[in-house]
Amino acid sequence: MRVICPHCKSVNNVPQKESYKKANCGKCKGSLLDTKPIELTNADFDEVVVNSDIAVIVDFWAPWCGPCKMMAPTFQKSAESFPLKALFTKVNTENEQALGARFGIRSIPTLVVFKDGKEVHRVSGALDEASLNKMVAQFI
Ligand SMILES: [Zn+2]
Repeated sequence: MRVICPHCKSVNNVPQKESYKKANCGKCKGSLLDTKPIELTNADFDEVVVNSDIAVIVDFWAPWCGPCKMMAPTFQKSAESFPLKALFTKVNTENEQALGARFGIRSIPTLVVFKDGKEVHRVSGALDEASLNKMVAQFI
């Protein structure tokens, strides 16, 4: 399956397994198990979403949004629960207004799930960790 490296955003092919002890990027050698959410921009958004065989969770947020900032640690923590199962990403709608407009983001935070390049789910408003994990688990 194809996964996006969280460090250099290049596409890697890894065998599909129940769990992983080790998996490194073929390009930058960084660990693919590193689950820190990655920032997407208008320039690389499609490339990442289309080339990921695992679900891509996009957190549309903005720096001035209090609930977004409150949810950031939860989002990070949830990402750690799904190494190579789901890709956690963030879009700063203040910098990337074209993406916000394209997906009709009217309120933030809004979480959108993409699978096979298509939107399959979205939810507006901050989620707690249990709800977020439950939502993501539906798509792995
Ligand atoms: Zn890499």
